[in-house]
Amino acid sequence: MTEAELRQKLVDRVTAVEERLAAACRRAGRNRADVTLLCVTKSVSPTVAAALYALGQADLGESRPQELWRKAAVLPPGVRWHLIGHLQRNKVEETLPLVHLIHSVDSQRLLEALEANASKRRLTVPVLLEVNASREAQKHGFAPEGVPDLLPGLEKLRHVEVHGFMTMAALEGDPELARSTFASLRRLRDWLAGRVEPPHRLEHLSMGMTHDFEVAVEEGATIVRIGTALFDGLEDVP
Ligand SMILES: *Cc1c(COP(=O)(O)O)cnc(C)c1O
Repeated sequence: MTEAELRQKLVDRVTAVEERLAAACRRAGRNRADVTLLCVTKSVSPTVAAALYALGQADLGESRPQELWRKAAVLPPGVRWHLIGHLQRNKVEETLPLVHLIHSVDSQRLLEALEANASKRRLTVPVLLEVNASREAQKHGFAPEGVPDLLPGLEKLRHVEVHGFMTMAALEGDPELARSTFASLRRLRDWLAGRVEPPHRLEHLSMGMTHDFEVAVEEGATIVRIGTALFDGLEDVP
């Protein structure tokens, strides 16, 4: 595939996703500007990710820390990198200075490790708490009923700012089935938002992927994480 062909393909994909996103926002009576399109580049090479960035998509997401480091080292510094997969505590040190937002904070111990590292470096780290709202055993994330127990710990954080929640709905089946998962995350957010103090602000709901993002937008998503709809078939482009 030539550079021009790749570029054209990505323009077409972004246009198609944008049309779906705009339609979902219209149905929900929301502004398109209130939803961030996060492009999940985990399945493609740095070249493809860079070509997308050159088209004006600055929010890029990776699920593996090492892959985020690898791409961050070669893409322009203007990229806003989002980590959307599990972060092991021994990878905090190298990840922190690179990320715009960590969506996948899934344990109290990780929160403490982030606080310690950010404090040492005098950084603030914006994070989302990952909630296993669909209650599937194989998934990371806090159980929804465990969220109230986090409150005392959140009050002690000085360098980690909680900006909301992230969840993944069940991967298969009718996207309508995801609606109750997304709605329950929104209710949980509304509940916690009334109980935290600044710097925590629970303005974000990161929810919705290729097969269910329209439903997520209808249920209040502020960030949708899209991979397949943008990059399907481009996994082999070097
Ligand atoms: C891969 C991934 C996505 C993107 O999923 P698609 O179905 O390819 O759009 C979104 N969120 C997370 C956490 C992922 O790992």
